[in-house]
Amino acid sequence: MECPFCEHPKAHKHSKTSAGHQRFRCPACRQTFTDTIDTLYYRRRLTPADIDSILQAHTEGVSLRGIARLTKHVYNTVVDVVRASSHKAQLVHNEEVKDVETEQVIADEMWSFVKKSRSDVPQKN
Ligand SMILES: [Zn+2]
Repeated sequence: MECPFCEHPKAHKHSKTSAGHQRFRCPACRQTFTDTIDTLYYRRRLTPADIDSILQAHTEGVSLRGIARLTKHVYNTVVDVVRASSHKAQLVHNEEVKDVETEQVIADEMWSFVKKSRSDVPQKN
């Protein structure tokens, strides 16, 4: 397996994690990692099925606390999975969506904030 840190071609098997996943160690940079590195499953105790059900519920609009109740996971775990997947999705989007030629743009929403200074607020007399 290629080392994801220094790209050395032959990382060796190096024991297993407490969860039973194969661990590898690079002979060049001596870093250890598992084959799920750079995925949503890396260094998580949740199974891929758990993560999938959390994200499925999130896409269907279930509240984060609702997901925590339904899947019996801790709220912060649910938030962390959703946040991590959002971050990954943003990275993929930034990598894949570049230099798109457009003639028209349809904007579903446009948000703006206009600062309000204290002098603009009507004074009560
Ligand atoms: Zn390495």
